[in-house]
Amino acid sequence: MAAMSLTLPVLPETPTAHAEGTPQPLPGILDVPNDTLRAWLAERRQPPMRISQIRKQILANRATSFEEMSDLPKDLRPQLAAAFSIFSTRVERHMFAMSDDTHKLVLRLADDKMIECVLIQDDGRATACISTQVGCGMGCVFCASGLNGVVRNLTVGEMVEQLVRLRNLTDPKSTNPDRAPRLTHIVVMGMGEPLANLDRLLEALAIAGDKNGLCVGQRHVTISTVGLPAKIRQLADVGKQYHLAVSLHAASDALRTQIVPTNDKTGIPAILEAADYFYETTGRQVTYEYVVLGGLNDGPTHAKELARLLSGRKAHVNLIPWNDVEGLPYRRPIDGNLQGLIDTLHRSGVSVKVRKRKGSEIDAACGQLRRKVEQETMGGTP
Ligand code: SAH
Repeated sequence: MAAMSLTLPVLPETPTAHAEGTPQPLPGILDVPNDTLRAWLAERRQPPMRISQIRKQILANRATSFEEMSDLPKDLRPQLAAAFSIFSTRVERHMFAMSDDTHKLVLRLADDKMIECVLIQDDGRATACISTQVGCGMGCVFCASGLNGVVRNLTVGEMVEQLVRLRNLTDPKSTNPDRAPRLTHIVVMGMGEPLANLDRLLEALAIAGDKNGLCVGQRHVTISTVGLPAKIRQLADVGKQYHLAVSLHAASDALRTQIVPTNDKTGIPAILEAADYFYETTGRQVTYEYVVLGGLNDGPTHAKELARLLSGRKAHVNLIPWNDVEGLPYRRPIDGNLQGLIDTLHRSGVSVKVRKRKGSEIDAACGQLRRKVEQETMGGTP
């Protein structure tokens, strides 16, 4: 049966100044450094406190134009609108899965690159899944995001914008116990390798956690990594309560290197040691993600190896049946094999869950919709 989904119309929203007929995108205010903004305000005899007012308006009050920022002087608002835009990104495509209220946005960045982000709504949670890079350099063989490598890291503002845009899709007046009126959780599981852009990610998450920002508590933030040991240790040492998810996908180095090519340089033992350090330092249990690829890593031997590797650890396993990516030669596991993995892990005392599939009718697998939109709008492979 065809699942119901809608492509919602995208209305123009970002004002652009026109120089000799060429649209010049205005700088997105979330990425303008404080010093620059302070100087810009000083030239107009405005105090630096305007910066926090503006940011609070966008982050906490859902303002989408300077005009509606009623706590700013009336004559300052058009001046701001002429110099900056609220968002540096544009919504290129907005998909909505009616079956489970999942939204997916393809955003076009100021340099015309595209990224994706997703809002998942269930059980009273509203979870934003955000990207940290354009493309991905890790090259996991089953993943759509890395098919063409990494292009660049996202800026702090580009990451915050994804959160703000997704939060703006939640209903602040919701009384439905299943639909949160605000953003409650963040998973950094979109395109890119978060720990390859860690410093900026931490800045973006600090804004997300601020009481004048999006108010998402640290314990409600999950960062998923391919497993970069030095960066995992760095994250452990920042003194935050973020949750760490490590994409394991195989329990032997030979198979993991086949599925996750960067494993060649790191190897499973160094990743597990870093993850153990993360647990010891933060007290936060580590989740191991395991994309289940039919016939490749889902047999009884794989299950036993995985159980052996994790049974002594305080670990949780998330099994993710592979989401189809057009053109890739993998398949989802048959039910018996998935159950085999679950049972073997249970028997070894390892906590395990199968990740629910969300928004599958809108290409929710990482990087898929962006590829499709790029191919449509550019008429070829990106
Ligand atoms: N670079 C990070 C974030 C990737 S996305 C990482 O490697 O963890 C989050 C998770 O989704 C990862 O475990 C990733 O391997 C997995 N994933 C990517 N494409 C997938 C697909 N087509 N089907 C199922 N899981 C996928």
